[in-house]
Amino acid sequence: MSISSPERFNEEPGVENTNKVATDAEREIQSLHDTPSYYFDTSLAECSGKDPNIFFPSTSVGVFEAKLICARCVIRDDCLIQAIEENEDNGVWGGASERDRRRIKAIKRREHLDTRSVTKEFLINPEAFFRKRRMNN
Ligand code: SF4
Repeated sequence: MSISSPERFNEEPGVENTNKVATDAEREIQSLHDTPSYYFDTSLAECSGKDPNIFFPSTSVGVFEAKLICARCVIRDDCLIQAIEENEDNGVWGGASERDRRRIKAIKRREHLDTRSVTKEFLINPEAFFRKRRMNN
């Protein structure tokens, strides 16, 4: 994620951030990015410079729009792995909605898969990933 971008955190000096959920989640993720095991180059993130509220949508159309951005992101696999492993509950990360991640984690547990393999399969074709398990996307 473009966690280091001021735009993503909405930290423009003198401007109060009205999206507390987004800010708290972002800050949590930022602290995780600071640990070596999760480090990746966030400057490559497709969300860099974009309004962070896009990734915390309240409608299905909003989720779709956020996913479209993530679909073009070269670090979405690492982003999704991190969101899964750190139980990120809010927002769209790595092209997966909150609901997607809950289901991915359930499949991971049930099928005893590691995070990288389950996220890789999801990202190749989310519809096929859920259809194979007889789950509607
Ligand atoms: S996958 Fe989406 S949320 Fe994650 S870094 Fe890329 S654009 Fe940002």
